Amino acid sequence: MINQTNCPLCKSELKKVHTTKDFLVTGENFDIMECPNCRLRLTSPFPDKDAMGRYYESDEYISHADKSKNVFDLVYNLVRSTMLGRKRNLVEKAVGKKIGSILDIGCGTGHFVNTMRENGWKVSGVEVSSKAGELMNNQFGVSIISPDEWLNSHEKYDVITCWHSLEHVHEPWIYLEKIRATLNHDGVLIVALPNYESTDAGKYGADWAAYDTPRHLYHFTPSSLEKIMFANEFLIDEIHRMPFDAFYISILSARHTGRSAISGMWNGFISWFSALLNKEKCSSLIYVMK
Ligand SMILES: [Zn+2]
Repeated sequence: MINQTNCPLCKSELKKVHTTKDFLVTGENFDIMECPNCRLRLTSPFPDKDAMGRYYESDEYISHADKSKNVFDLVYNLVRSTMLGRKRNLVEKAVGKKIGSILDIGCGTGHFVNTMRENGWKVSGVEVSSKAGELMNNQFGVSIISPDEWLNSHEKYDVITCWHSLEHVHEPWIYLEKIRATLNHDGVLIVALPNYESTDAGKYGADWAAYDTPRHLYHFTPSSLEKIMFANEFLIDEIHRMPFDAFYISILSARHTGRSAISGMWNGFISWFSALLNKEKCSSLIYVMK
């Protein structure tokens, strides 16, 4: 565990904004630190790479688990299938191709990769969890590579996607450098991230479920992401809303704090509505970069 004191990008001294905890697995406390210059937020202490495994040891970690056990999971799965089609449209429109090669970083159990494969794309997935990789192989017959295998490969892609994965990576700049090197000349990078300036983040503060410490190591806003991306020679071309996340995150945040799902739903609705008026208030955003 390393206490974060300085911004990894600009070296400014970090300021503590929240004390939160790991609501999902261990109940351990973590701080949210912010760089006054970049506005990047970090989780502190920052667990070592080797120590991360135990923080993912939960049946409720539904990005990686596939069995629907309750209404909450059923709704989650329904929303996921709606989003899969939307993601495919967004990818094809962003790159201007109906068929090409795509790498999904943090592909989990591979639903998105499989959707692309079924529509004729040449697909690859990077996943740190061998358990999720196994599920993906069994269910869809697609094999995944580990982050280290990818970092040492020379394969090029038309599109690289990071759907809610960059915030889990210890050194995202190493990934961004590799992505820059492995994207084809007219390739596109698509990143989805929670937005700590969203209405639901403001409502729940330290209990906001999308801080998800310590699984989420970094926390972004549109402007902080723009700075990091610019330093890595990427320009944000488009920003899209992920409208369902406001509901999912608010219900989860309400549950963390012992409040009812109805109150979470209501706050989700308020956040969703405010994002209609101001995109930068959206719970999660998709960034298309060139
Ligand atoms: Zn900074």
